[in-house]
Order: sequence, then C-alpha cells, then structure tokens
Amino acid sequence: MTSTKIIRLSKSSIGEDEKLSVMHVLDHEYLGMGADVDKFESELGIFFSRPVVCVANGTAALHLALQACGIGHGDEVLVQSLTYVASFQAISATGATPIACDINPSTLTLDWRDAERRITSNTKAVMPVHYSGGVGELDEIYEFARKYGLRVVEDAAHAFGSVYKDKLVGGVGDIACFSFDGIKNITSGEGGCIVTDDPLILQRVKDARLLGVEKDTEMRYAAKRSWEFEVSNQGWRYHMSNIMAAIGSAQLRRAENFFQIRRAIARLYDEHLRGHPLISLIQHDYNSVVPHIYTIRIQGLRNREKVIERLESSGIQYGRHYQPNHLLAYYSNSKNIDYFYTDSVYAELLTLPLHTDLTLSDVRYICKIVKSAFE
Ligand SMILES: *Cc1c(COP(=O)(O)O)cnc(C)c1O
Repeated sequence: MTSTKIIRLSKSSIGEDEKLSVMHVLDHEYLGMGADVDKFESELGIFFSRPVVCVANGTAALHLALQACGIGHGDEVLVQSLTYVASFQAISATGATPIACDINPSTLTLDWRDAERRITSNTKAVMPVHYSGGVGELDEIYEFARKYGLRVVEDAAHAFGSVYKDKLVGGVGDIACFSFDGIKNITSGEGGCIVTDDPLILQRVKDARLLGVEKDTEMRYAAKRSWEFEVSNQGWRYHMSNIMAAIGSAQLRRAENFFQIRRAIARLYDEHLRGHPLISLIQHDYNSVVPHIYTIRIQGLRNREKVIERLESSGIQYGRHYQPNHLLAYYSNSKNIDYFYTDSVYAELLTLPLHTDLTLSDVRYICKIVKSAFE
C-alpha cells in the first residue's frame, strides 16, 4: 500500500513567534487575565478602530453579547438554521429561543425576508451569520432590524478580516462577535471577542465575563485584585487568559499574510471549479472577503457521494458546514417549518480543505480529484 499524504481540512498555523510569546507568559508565571489580555484588546482595538473585549471563545462572546442586550427567557432571536450549533447554543444559553430562518442560496447567509415572516412580539434580536466570511445582505438586515427595533448581534466567527462595502466587518454596526478557536482566521488557542461602540454593552460584557464582579477588569489590568466588590448580574468564567492573548497577539501580526493566502487559495479553487455543470460555487469577491472555509455545492446525491469517495481514497479531508439546527432535537419546535433553501442546499454541501499551510499545488490536486469523480 502506498502511503498517501493527508491533506487536512483545516488547521492552526503556529510559528516561532507564537511559541516564544507563550514561553514569555509562562516564564512570568501570571497565566490568568492580566496585562497580555489588555494588550491584545488594544491591538484588536486598533485593528477594528473600535473597543474590543476578549473572552474565552466565540460562543461565550455571542452569549455575553446577547445577555448584555438584556435578552433572556421569553425572548426570541432570529438566526439562520445553517450555522454551527454554537450560534444556537449561545442564544438558548440566555434562556431565549433561537428562531431558525432560511438562507439566501447564493451566499448561504440569512434571508431577512424569511426572517421577517417569523417575527413575533417576542423577537428581540437578529443574529446574521457571516457564512464562510461573506456577510450577504448585511445593509438590508440592518434596515430590517431598525424597522422592527431589533438588536443585531453578528456572528462574525468566519469573517475576521473580511470587508463589506469598504468597511471592515466588525468595524461598523451594532455588535460583532469573533472566534479565535484553533482553526479560525486567526487563533488564540481558544478565544473570542466582542466588538461594539456601545459603552453599556462593553461594561456589561467586561463584568459578566468574570463572574459578574463589577469593575474587576480595570483592577486586573492594573495587576490588582478586587477583594471587596459588588455583583448585580449573572456572570460566567468566560475571561481570556494571558496565554491565549499572547498567541492571539502573535497571530494578529501575521493576519494580513494569512488573509492573502486564504484569498489566493479560494481564487484558485474558483478558477478550477467554476463552470462545471454539476458544481456551484458560493459567490464571493475575494478582494473583500477573507474566506474561512471553501464550500461548494454538488448536484445529485450520488455525485456528491462519488466525490467524497475519491477524496477519502486520496487522503483529502472534507467537511459539511453545517447540519441545519432546526433538525436537532433540542431546537425542534412547532414553528420549525419551511426551510426550502436550507434543506436543499444542505444535501449538496461539501467543504474542501482551506488553511494557510495548504499549497497552491495541493489545491490543484484537490480540484483534479474532485473533477475526476464525474469522469
Ligand atoms: C467557530 C464558530 C463559533 C463559535 O466559536 P468558538 O470559539 O468555537 O466558541 C460560532 N459560530 C460560528 C459560525 C463558528 O464557526
């Protein structure tokens, strides 16, 4: 048997700088939330030109953002069904109900027209998910939110570095949440952040990320502890550690390079797969979008199976982003009807490898294998 190289679907890219930065924190023997988190937040603040609060992961960022908006039991939040279960769990963690919505089939992002049909007097917010790095009709979603007085909490976990109409995603808008988990556009090991101009949201999120201890962030960043404090709200152990922040800072220095590599890979995939009669691509302009995943649609279940067989026998990992949430037991309810595009698109989805250590010749090879399944 010949040994084939495994081409990974996704992975972190960790250099010397990340390792040295972590060693520095370990040597200092202050591992929790302190000066390094403060520093990473300032650097991200410069990147976004807006205040940033770092937390333990992207799911925590979404949960805290919703909680800070006052969302809880009895409230409803509109969100596309085709997303990572984290979006749904963040909503239900507040006690609110996620209301699954259909997608726009060309971008796989929230269809606000479908969301509008699902509005009730309990609807408090909308969570657009920036699938694969594209934001879909984000301006229209904001217009729709304004019309109904809804908060907008953007699940921007896929969109770190993406630009929409000449503005950085997260640089404008109500609240945007990012993830820095191991395979996202940049990583801090685990991690995430909330970006907003709203001072009340910022203060609530800062307090809630560390057990609701008020003004604790300010104390810790000055290398002090709060021994006497007030707690007026439910909090969580959702803070970022200095170890995570050190990795994040080092990754942020490489971010521009990561963005260029991700874009070059997606452009090459597009070039090789565009025009194939049985394959449809997500329509992205990679001058503005930084792709987090590269997902295609393959017509015909049997064709999709054949492509998967070829990928597997060639040592190429693949993914399915994502199993629709309205099909999950925990999120099923009587209002879960009519997901025409979500259901039909899900049957066709296939995600091909995309990470910053993937070479362009890997991409050509993957495209050759995919196309060979139709010969
Ligand atoms: C990764 C991800 C999250 C959650 O981020 P974690 O850091 O893994 O908690 C949320 N939504 C989407 C769409 C994601 O891909």
